Amino acid sequence: MSELEIMLQYQEVDGKIRAIEQEIAATEERKKFISARKFLEKASEKLELLDNRALSLERSAASLTRKYLELADSLSEFSALDDLVEQGADVSFYKKQALSISEQLKGIKAEINQLISAINAAQKDYASLKQQTLAAQKQFKEYKIKYSDIKESRAAELDALQRQLAAIEKKGNPEVFAKYKAKRREHIFPIIGELRENRCPFCGMDLPIALQSHLSDGRVIECDSCHRFIYKK
Ligand SMILES: [Zn+2]
Repeated sequence: MSELEIMLQYQEVDGKIRAIEQEIAATEERKKFISARKFLEKASEKLELLDNRALSLERSAASLTRKYLELADSLSEFSALDDLVEQGADVSFYKKQALSISEQLKGIKAEINQLISAINAAQKDYASLKQQTLAAQKQFKEYKIKYSDIKESRAAELDALQRQLAAIEKKGNPEVFAKYKAKRREHIFPIIGELRENRCPFCGMDLPIALQSHLSDGRVIECDSCHRFIYKK
């Protein structure tokens, strides 16, 4: 068998393997398994973001408490106001101070309202993340089994084809097969094609006449541009 015949036979069997792999990849079971897995991979990241949000809300609450305590402190001065006024203190000064405290209290109230809505929003997001995570965990478990069943159902078929490939590979040039397999790992297929109008059938590059002369006698050459293999009948 010529190198070309070996390679073409190999590619034909490999194509059958690829078709089965694609069929498996296109199943709903695999898609659902992958989507659940992706969600779960991202869930910890999302949870961390929520944790950071909770931490920042906690800090805001602490800062509001400090502001409130400072105001309460300044209000305590007012308990002695009667005595102070009797001693001739300026009432208008305390009036101004009371007004300022009242304004600051309004500010604190607004900040508390903001904080409450931020806490509510965070709680809602947390509850939704929890629910989604539980659903994804359930889906992951369920579809891991279903996907694995599908793979299992095609395993014997794939195994037989792999054995055929191995047998064909033994007859050919190991260097060429190493290159072929490298391409296959890049999800490229087909890898061997027939010269078309003196060009590479894959990338269309013009093949120098000198190179074309190597194509006689069922030999295979590698395209300089896309590095796939070209033959001529
Ligand atoms: Zn090419």
